[in-house]
Amino acid sequence: MSVNQQAHAGPPYGQPQPGYQGYQQPAYGGQSLPGVPQSQYGAYNGPMPGYQQPVPPQGYFPSLGFPSKGSPVSLNSDTSSLAPNFIGSLRAPPTSGAPPPASGASHPSGHLAYSQFEHGDVQNGIPASAAPMQRPPAPQPFLPGSAPTPVSQISTFQQYGPPPGSVQQLRNHMAGMTIGGTAASAPPPAGLGYVSGSFSATGSGLHTPYSASQGPPPASVSEGLPLAQPPFPGHTVSTQRLPTQVPAFTPPPPSTGVAPSSYPPTTGAPRPPAMPGPPLPGQTVPAPPSSQPNHVSSPPPPPPPSTMAGLHPGPPMSGLHGPPPPTHPPQPGYQMQQNGSFGQMRGPQPNYGGAYPGAPNYGSPPGPPPPPKRLDPDSIPSPQLNELPPQQKPRHRIDPDAIPSPIQVIEDDRNNRGSEPFVTGVRGQVPPLVTTNFLVKDQGNASPRYIRCTSYNIPCTSDMAKQSQVPLAAVIKPLAALPPEETLPYLVDHGESGPVRCNRCKAYMCPFMQFIEGGRRFQCCFCSCVTEVPPHYFQHLDHTGKRVDYYDRPELSLGSYEFLATVDYCKNNKFPSPPAFIFMIDVSYNAVKSGLVRLICEELKSLLDYLPREGNMEESAIRVGFVTYNKVLHFYNVKSSLAQPQMMVVSDVADMFVPLLDGFLVNVNESRTVIASLLDQIPEMFADTRETETVFAPVIQAGLEALKAAECAGKLFIFHTSLPIAEAPGKLKNRDDRKLINTDKEKTLFQPQTSFYNNLAKDCVAQGCCVDLFLFPNQYLDVATLGVVPYQTGGSIYKYAYFQLETDQYRFLNDLRRDVQKEVGFDAVMRVRTSTGIRATDFFGAFYMSNTTDVEMAGLDCDKTITVEFKHDDKLSEDSGALLQCALLYTSCAGQRRLRIHNLSLNCCTQLADLYRNCETDTLINYLAKYAYRGVLSSPVKTVRDALINQCAQILACYRKNCASPSSAGQLILPECMKLLPVYLNCVLKSDVLQPGPEATTDDRAYIRQLVTSMDVAETNVFFYPRLLPLTKADVDSDSLPAAIRNSEERLSKGDIYLLENGLNIFVWVGVSVQQSLIQNLFGVSSFSQISNALSTLPVLENPFSKKVRSIVDMLQGQRSRYMKLIIVKQEDKLEMLFKHFLVEDKSLSGGASYVDFLCHMHKEIRQLLS
Ligand SMILES: [Zn+2]
Repeated sequence: MSVNQQAHAGPPYGQPQPGYQGYQQPAYGGQSLPGVPQSQYGAYNGPMPGYQQPVPPQGYFPSLGFPSKGSPVSLNSDTSSLAPNFIGSLRAPPTSGAPPPASGASHPSGHLAYSQFEHGDVQNGIPASAAPMQRPPAPQPFLPGSAPTPVSQISTFQQYGPPPGSVQQLRNHMAGMTIGGTAASAPPPAGLGYVSGSFSATGSGLHTPYSASQGPPPASVSEGLPLAQPPFPGHTVSTQRLPTQVPAFTPPPPSTGVAPSSYPPTTGAPRPPAMPGPPLPGQTVPAPPSSQPNHVSSPPPPPPPSTMAGLHPGPPMSGLHGPPPPTHPPQPGYQMQQNGSFGQMRGPQPNYGGAYPGAPNYGSPPGPPPPPKRLDPDSIPSPQLNELPPQQKPRHRIDPDAIPSPIQVIEDDRNNRGSEPFVTGVRGQVPPLVTTNFLVKDQGNASPRYIRCTSYNIPCTSDMAKQSQVPLAAVIKPLAALPPEETLPYLVDHGESGPVRCNRCKAYMCPFMQFIEGGRRFQCCFCSCVTEVPPHYFQHLDHTGKRVDYYDRPELSLGSYEFLATVDYCKNNKFPSPPAFIFMIDVSYNAVKSGLVRLICEELKSLLDYLPREGNMEESAIRVGFVTYNKVLHFYNVKSSLAQPQMMVVSDVADMFVPLLDGFLVNVNESRTVIASLLDQIPEMFADTRETETVFAPVIQAGLEALKAAECAGKLFIFHTSLPIAEAPGKLKNRDDRKLINTDKEKTLFQPQTSFYNNLAKDCVAQGCCVDLFLFPNQYLDVATLGVVPYQTGGSIYKYAYFQLETDQYRFLNDLRRDVQKEVGFDAVMRVRTSTGIRATDFFGAFYMSNTTDVEMAGLDCDKTITVEFKHDDKLSEDSGALLQCALLYTSCAGQRRLRIHNLSLNCCTQLADLYRNCETDTLINYLAKYAYRGVLSSPVKTVRDALINQCAQILACYRKNCASPSSAGQLILPECMKLLPVYLNCVLKSDVLQPGPEATTDDRAYIRQLVTSMDVAETNVFFYPRLLPLTKADVDSDSLPAAIRNSEERLSKGDIYLLENGLNIFVWVGVSVQQSLIQNLFGVSSFSQISNALSTLPVLENPFSKKVRSIVDMLQGQRSRYMKLIIVKQEDKLEMLFKHFLVEDKSLSGGASYVDFLCHMHKEIRQLLS
């Protein structure tokens, strides 16, 4: 199934044609639903004796303007052991509810001077200053406009961009081009079009802390709001009801994993625009094939020739009986790292740091790989039986220490690659793992924080790709937050003419474009079309063919940058207004009784002072509005001129309209008094409510209508508690049925129960109305259906089951603060262009697609990823490689229209071994999980699981057959880069979506399913294979984390305390024999039995161990995009079952295989494929 099966209709977004009426989305193409946030398990109700005001999150990430430089927030000080998942931490919680100074907060002016774009930072190519420039002998007739000095054409192949690694292919279509000497004129003063002021790398850390001294004006609580009658009794509402559409959960077509034959035939001629760009007039988008191929459900390819014997034990292999000896010498080169087998260390990485310029291309095969080591499961000695706990009695005689260890791989990569920056100047370079903390230097390719690929060396032909079954996919996080040490993308302003683009495919200017004819034209690196350089953009070339202003222009020398968009890129050819935030609070009985309404209102009083700001702006441009609801909706007029807020009730929810325009969306500072008064009064007004029923769809419609009326994009923050059963559009019924699990109807649990929300989502996307949903259910509320709109609008869902004020408020408030403050773009459209030979065919994530190429998101924040799959439509060449360009058009939080561009160059190979040497298993798993999680909408989960296993077996069998040296078939040989594929795959198979544990509810599964679909690689990595740390081994005197251990019960000692985190939960497991002093130090109680597992935070105790553990917890919380729920688990306590569910190397209660068993199963599958 595909998200993009709809024929393109309507002009591409942003096309500068008159009368473009926003997005015209014919139909929703098939994205699936969302889930709901929060931890997947019920809360632990109980006393909260030790609730402590947790340590305020350190620092605060600047969710300000984009061109801001990093923040001063240092999330971790241990560079060796932390995952580089840079998530800005939150501001400290308000201590008094008092907001900071409303204005005049001094923002460190991080304004980045022009000179900060240092040449020294860009080392690829020959520095302009070093290139002797000669004035050309004769002027050229071609002198458009204000073009600089006449220049003679130059010559030679140009080495644009970073990687000198491969010969740039230059097809010179130019007639009359004189290939002369290396003449080039001296560069004219740089400056055309490159506005230095646009380098507004605003400082970060611009956030003022909450200040107790400057509170909001005292809220004058009145006796209730003047109740205004709905002003427009006979109001006819103009909401349009679109034809109901069947949710597009069409089953994935069986496919072959290659481009369908209906793809346009490829010819030698320049192909038609592969990925026509969003904007630009006159452009036509080719209709895609109506069905998308996919991998997972593909039938196995014809079995390879039987070259391997069946199962028979191979001879004992000396190198394989256990982990590598500690003295294992570093392998020369990197072949070992890429192509080894079990137990082998990841070898040293290529010398990427010093490789540039003129370095060899590490992406190409360095020579024959050394013979991989082999593991013969049948011949591996087992550990002594009596050393193992009873449940670990090996059935396969395999030593768990002899099979590939995630911990070892992660550790090796940290040691080998964590010390040097990752320099992106080399094509096809595999980045360090997501678990390695490293810095990135942009030298022409996008940072792996923005784009990660399943492979950095892709097969030249579709036949090879099909044979290997390795999916070609990129996980893209366009607005990713960066660590403070790295530079955010520069903003380039080309003035009224806008960005320079290829005439045909509309690709944006990038380091891989080749300038020819002395710089008067450039040849597109994506479609080969030759385009005139606009006069204002002309520049001379140096003797290498590189523009002399190469280093002065981010779009010529960097992998990632931004363009200021012109009005042509705006809806209706009108520059956008700043976005608005609308807070919509459920005030039904449950919400009031639990204290939630009061909590939200209290928090908003201070949080509103931290709305996202553009770079150096003193106050946020975002306007705010407020709605409360149960069965009816209450709108509030908070106009600054009012003495008191006014409420307007809309009880006709069948035809939602917004009863007031003026005074609904306001500036926080101007209406501060009125807003504060409103937030004080809301909890009082509904304190005695008896209303238990709620509506839901009308709430979204109300927000949507308000944004429409204000002609702006924005975000709705909806706080909701129950299944919307009140009579209204979008009314739902309880249809939960666990009996459907493991039946063919299980898929219906993941599907929305009505298509109403799909249509509503479409309207929301058209308006740029993003929905973030905070759910507080005490029972089933149908996350699969309620999540549709948040999911398709690029929003987020958070879920706090059985919300209890005492235990859950801190987690909720942290999530809310981060969600409100984080960097977000609105009205976003993303397109991925590719060079000839491959193209994007499938997309996964939280978005909407109305055609096959444009990913539309009402909102896109810094945490969201879009996974894109590519297929061949022609042959690729080893020389030219393959290029991706991701262009994201969006509106910033201040209403500025921008384009963010990310470029990435990959190698191409004719040998399968090169593919397997340059794969990234973490990214592969990210893709496979998303693929499988989409599959459950249309297929029984067993079918999905079997397809996953089959595909991975084919991947590994292909390696065995084509890349490994001949050996006994009884030996399992895994490619070095994929040696963790079996263990990680098993974790995906055992996850609650594909094989639910007894604790997982239907809502939990729908929630997880949606959450994973937007996760980046670091998040899926820790989600599927949680991090397990022995806290009692922590060095209290150092900043480092204790070394992680494998996720198996046999690794736990009953005398120790462990921490396990997976991005949603943090478990602290306490063994029964832990020393009394440790228990005292950590929990403040004197014995094991006194430890309360109702704690939601660790007590703040003044001793080194307590401080150390709390700092570890804080550090981990700071790395994750959601605040993790802390759960204390005592060994042999009933909660331990929950904890054991995450010991993913063990057999699971729900029937999931242990790692060892699964590895044997995979081995069997592989042998079957080979025989
Ligand atoms: Zn082009």
